[in-house]
Amino acid sequence: MDHIKAAIRTIPDYPKLGIMFRDVTTLLGDAGAFRAAVDAMVQPHAGRKIDKVAGIEARGFILGGAVAHQLSVGFVPIRKKGKLPHKTIGQTYELEYGADEVEMHVDAVQPGERVLLVDDLIATGGTAEAAILLLRKAGAEVEGCSFVIDLPDLGGARKIEAMGVSVASLTAFEGE
Ligand code: AMP
Repeated sequence: MDHIKAAIRTIPDYPKLGIMFRDVTTLLGDAGAFRAAVDAMVQPHAGRKIDKVAGIEARGFILGGAVAHQLSVGFVPIRKKGKLPHKTIGQTYELEYGADEVEMHVDAVQPGERVLLVDDLIATGGTAEAAILLLRKAGAEVEGCSFVIDLPDLGGARKIEAMGVSVASLTAFEGE
């Protein structure tokens, strides 16, 4: 995992002062690190029954698409409000200031389908929590969540595990 961690670039004070932005574009641009990250995200699920991979806009699309391809299952985009053309269901979530909403197509998953949720990073867990609630609203069973990066000091993984969903991360950065 050292190779994967070393391929992630940190941009201090982006998008605002005090935030250490963990930039995965450098990992995505490194063929070996990208493949190693996708393989490591797939590996725990290789023997289990997964029907779909859901990815959270936008970096979760890149990683989740690759994971879905490797598991030979379909992909479900979870998008910011107002982007999807067909009938949608939505789930709001709290931000530091205000609220946001994620949406998916109402027919993107069938009741009882087992879904693996993918994103690049888990911080407070608010986004992943909203995605899980959304998938459950559609009747899906969320089998697990897979992230490249965990920021353990922000407690997101604990929050998701308290919802009864297992969390796997490839690497962690201390602090925020
Ligand atoms: P949260 O809902 O707090 O778990 O935040 C997770 C979402 O925000 C993910 O989609 C991440 O891509 C993004 N994010 C939050 N904090 C960071 C960070 N320090 N560096 C890069 N992306 C972040």
